[in-house]
Amino acid sequence: MAKRDYYQVLEVNRSATEAEIKKAYRRLAMKLHPDRNPEDGEAGEKFKEAKEAYEVLSDAHKRAAYDQFGHAGVDAASRGGPGGGGFDPRDAFGDIFGDVFGDIFGAGRRGRSQVFRGADLRYELELDLEQAVFGDTANLDFATLVECEECKGTGSAKNSQPTTCQTCHGQGQVRMQQGFFTVQQTCPRCQGRGQVIADPCAKCRGQGRVRKQKTLAVKVPPGVDTGDRIRLSGEGEAGRNGGPHGDLYVEVRVKDHPIFERDGAHLSCEVPISFRTAALGGTIEVPTLDGDVTIKVPAETQSGRVFRLREKGIKPVRGGGPGDLFCRVVVETPVHLTREQKELLGKFDEALRSDHKHHHPREDSWLDGVKRFFTSLGE
Ligand SMILES: [Zn+2]
Ligand SMILES: [Zn+2]
Repeated sequence: MAKRDYYQVLEVNRSATEAEIKKAYRRLAMKLHPDRNPEDGEAGEKFKEAKEAYEVLSDAHKRAAYDQFGHAGVDAASRGGPGGGGFDPRDAFGDIFGDVFGDIFGAGRRGRSQVFRGADLRYELELDLEQAVFGDTANLDFATLVECEECKGTGSAKNSQPTTCQTCHGQGQVRMQQGFFTVQQTCPRCQGRGQVIADPCAKCRGQGRVRKQKTLAVKVPPGVDTGDRIRLSGEGEAGRNGGPHGDLYVEVRVKDHPIFERDGAHLSCEVPISFRTAALGGTIEVPTLDGDVTIKVPAETQSGRVFRLREKGIKPVRGGGPGDLFCRVVVETPVHLTREQKELLGKFDEALRSDHKHHHPREDSWLDGVKRFFTSLGE
């Protein structure tokens, strides 16, 4: 159906001012509004026509485009590009070309479908410290959307084709009137595809994709740490309308270890030692990631002392030498003492106090500190 001239529709002349156009539209709107003419289908059509004319002629850019190129100019301008709204003469020419050649080749620019890339997926992979340090192959098991085999992703049943969406006439965008403003929106009926599926595929209910449980083996390189991501290109959800697959991001989370604490490439652990070993010295066995090693504990070792084992840490995934292992020794207080053991400890303590030597350097310096503290308060 050929469109009437917008000036004719609003019954104004081509030199009408903005105020005159607004007045004319208001008068028509009052007369033709569907709420006032519920039985009259023609009034509804005329109202729409007047509204469309007003949308164009009340907008200076669109009116200029309409004056220069007629309906072709404003159709392109109102469709706009990303961001929409602005008028570009190239769009107008493109539209004229598209209409002409579109008719010749049958397909045309209408009904062009929008393709969408599939969504990326995120998978949290929990690893033991050993797996993270030495690397491993992990099996991922996850739900994803894959292309429907029945319809090859088209969403249409066998021997059926999608049809042009009647709501947006294949444009994928619709214009909504809000008061005197026009808002361009993705077509709610076809979600911007410009096409609707007349006879949907039974398996995917027209979605073109189906949910499926997928298993995938992923190689975990040695040295990974919590927060590291492994990207598996194209292993995400299938795209829509033939769009590419998304990616799968495997996010590593390393579980806590009963012995070791990790800080990047370094490891640390706490090693309990007996009071006797701490006082007289001796050797202790400490675990490392590649077997036990022996540490020599010198005599008079205090609780909390840290021994550094060079290069017994982790070789980082991004290269560089291995980190160190820090062993912090903790003197353990003996428990479940017998009466005899308690008496021996009492005698031992008396012996320490009777020879007036400084057997407790920490206690002595701490007591000195306490004394100084109270003295300074008293001043
Ligand atoms: Zn299907
Ligand atoms: Zn549509």
